[in-house]
Amino acid sequence: MADFGAGELDAFRTEVRAWLEANYPAELNDPKTKTDPEAVWGGRRFAESDDPQIVWMKRMAAKGWTTPTWPKEYGGGGLSPAEAKVLERELAAIKARPAVLAFGIWMLGPVLLEYATEEQKQTHLRRIVNGEIRWCQGYSEPGAGSDLAALATKCEDKGDHWLINGSKIWTSYADKADWCFCLVRTDTAKKHEGISFVLIDMATPGVETRPIPLISGESPFCETFFTDVKIPKGNLVGRVNGGWEIAKRLLQYERQNISAGFGEGGTAGGASGDLAVIAKRYSGDEGQLEDIELRSNITRNKMDFQSLRLTIARSAAESKAGNGPSAATSIIKYAAAEFAKARSELMIEALGHQGLGWEGEGFETPEIMATRGWLRTKANSIEGGTSEVNLNVVAKRVLGLPDPK
Ligand SMILES: Cc1cc2nc3c(=O)[nH]c(=O)nc-3n(C[C@H](O)[C@H](O)[C@H](O)COP(=O)(O)OP(=O)(O)OC[C@H]3O[C@@H](n4cnc5c(N)ncnc54)[C@H](O)[C@@H]3O)c2cc1C
Repeated sequence: MADFGAGELDAFRTEVRAWLEANYPAELNDPKTKTDPEAVWGGRRFAESDDPQIVWMKRMAAKGWTTPTWPKEYGGGGLSPAEAKVLERELAAIKARPAVLAFGIWMLGPVLLEYATEEQKQTHLRRIVNGEIRWCQGYSEPGAGSDLAALATKCEDKGDHWLINGSKIWTSYADKADWCFCLVRTDTAKKHEGISFVLIDMATPGVETRPIPLISGESPFCETFFTDVKIPKGNLVGRVNGGWEIAKRLLQYERQNISAGFGEGGTAGGASGDLAVIAKRYSGDEGQLEDIELRSNITRNKMDFQSLRLTIARSAAESKAGNGPSAATSIIKYAAAEFAKARSELMIEALGHQGLGWEGEGFETPEIMATRGWLRTKANSIEGGTSEVNLNVVAKRVLGLPDPK
């Protein structure tokens, strides 16, 4: 990875602009273009698709720009952090749609780069870069959420293969995924030291998924069942019984990515417009917003957002200077979740009675989206580790406070 000076960065910017001009599919600029909403997640079912979203994904993947900073030998872009930032800004400047959204890119790939054998890297990383395989995360179980190390899905050594029996829950998009990165129990006598990290092809006989509907009306996650599932010995990453370390590292990447939408270029902090403007429109107030409490809560929320954004920038800089993300990602995961919940509460308050719409002619689409979005934010402080659990991580691993147990 070369470290470029200002001149080289300018040259790179020019190159990126020219490439985007020639390669960003014109159809994606047209709001009327219909793309399959699932296409942005890639995967086997889109292998032969000519959906413009997939055309865009394949062009970006061919440059390695779906994973700009990954090494070129595994299909990545091999860009320096400064170049990757240039690419990110140029993509934002033309309002490009994401080339691909992928758990493989956000979570699995980085830990494979750290822990996998050369053969595993060669097998999986390029397929992640290319968006060929859609991954899901098999961590939580009915008896193991916050206390993840209580997981019981059994993985037995059968000589020439591993045999897996058990079930997972809240597996996001398991019904649409091609492969699952999964935590399994390889030693029942030990808790944390009895866990291994394995990769399972969801097309293997014995794998079954059942979608779970959410309060928001969607069904983004599943129960996942493994019954006598045989996987090759080479699908275990790292050491047998050494999966807990990989699991924790992956969670740091997950938390970093969950919060990424709040950083520079992200839309999570203000996607649905300026709260004060919306509140004024709905209250009919002239001049300043008359509701003093709402006004001061909106102001506080805007200040929280600026602090969050600066903290994300600081943490990203520390992460680049050091060895990737650290336990400090829990600070941001916690703060981003609480900020998003507070903001969507304020949005509902700003909308007045129009913030109570679920469907029907009495409500505009943005109002319905705001109500549904508000319900979706309830999950922000649960997914990727609950707010309480992240506060525990901050207490123990960032502040060094003693474990109460
Ligand atoms: C939208 C969404 C998507 C998800 N996607 C996935 C996925 O793809 N794959 C996957 O494996 N999982 C996924 N999950 C599951 C998620 O990781 C778990 O829900 C989460 O870890 C909490 O576990 P739990 O639901 O069992 O709650 P519990 O662990 O039972 O917690 C219940 C409550 O007790 C509190 N609590 C528990 N322990 C402590 C403690 N030590 N100190 C203080 N408070 C505590 C919690 O904070 C929480 O408020 C997803 C969840 C959501 C909401």
